[in-house]
Amino acid sequence: MELVPLYSGSSGNSTLIRTDNANILIDAGRNCKYLTQALNDVGTDPSDIDAVFITHSHVDHVSALDVFIRKYPTRLYATYETFRTIQRRFTKPHELTPDIIIKPREETEVVPGVKVTAVSTPHDAAGSVCYKIRDGVKQCMVMTDVGFVTDEIMGLARGVDAILIESNYDRRMLVYGDYPEDLKVRIAGDGGHMSNDDCAQMVKYLIDNGTRRIMLGHLSENNNTPDKAEKTVCEYLSSFDLTRDSDYELRVASRYEPTGAFVF
Ligand SMILES: [Zn+2]
Ligand SMILES: [Zn+2]
Repeated sequence: MELVPLYSGSSGNSTLIRTDNANILIDAGRNCKYLTQALNDVGTDPSDIDAVFITHSHVDHVSALDVFIRKYPTRLYATYETFRTIQRRFTKPHELTPDIIIKPREETEVVPGVKVTAVSTPHDAAGSVCYKIRDGVKQCMVMTDVGFVTDEIMGLARGVDAILIESNYDRRMLVYGDYPEDLKVRIAGDGGHMSNDDCAQMVKYLIDNGTRRIMLGHLSENNNTPDKAEKTVCEYLSSFDLTRDSDYELRVASRYEPTGAFVF
């Protein structure tokens, strides 16, 4: 299995999961041209995508979807609430229709042996979920736009081989930055995003339960830097005597281009 971040951040998100017999996209942000280029860059033909799973309806996760699906017809999976919101937003003559309605906690088989499970997130979009993908041997998870980590999310994430996990903002940068007060409250609130510190704690839990490959993602452009995210997580882990490259591998997903894949 391969976890391939195509691009990740508040400006647009898409992650490719490759297994022996399936290519799965989680989210389709930015635009179709950008997404197509990123897929080509990692050697996957856009017409070979077997399924697109949408986590939620925020624009940084769906803005390429409409054009991509028409150009490269593939199956589209999302929760009912996410579809409702997307359909209301796209005021084009054609209709973006769901192939499969996802229900949190239920497992969906994409191709024989490759299964995807959704778990609800407290993030502030109706029907927001994150996904775990497993092929019978390996499993990975894309866990962004979480808000805060629920017991249910911890349960699903436990034991994955690799994860792309949200490390959205540095607390100090958010507090002292120039965002309006209500936006700061939204980002740091239960329906917002995970800070670098929140991420560090979740990563500790994951490593304690066997995860070895950590990809930090969905970094804020204004309230974080790759260095701060990486440093916060690694310093927290080293306080438990966990050493990078021996106890775990850690990378930060690029905002603009594909990041070296985790192959496991
Ligand atoms: Zn969001
Ligand atoms: Zn987002």
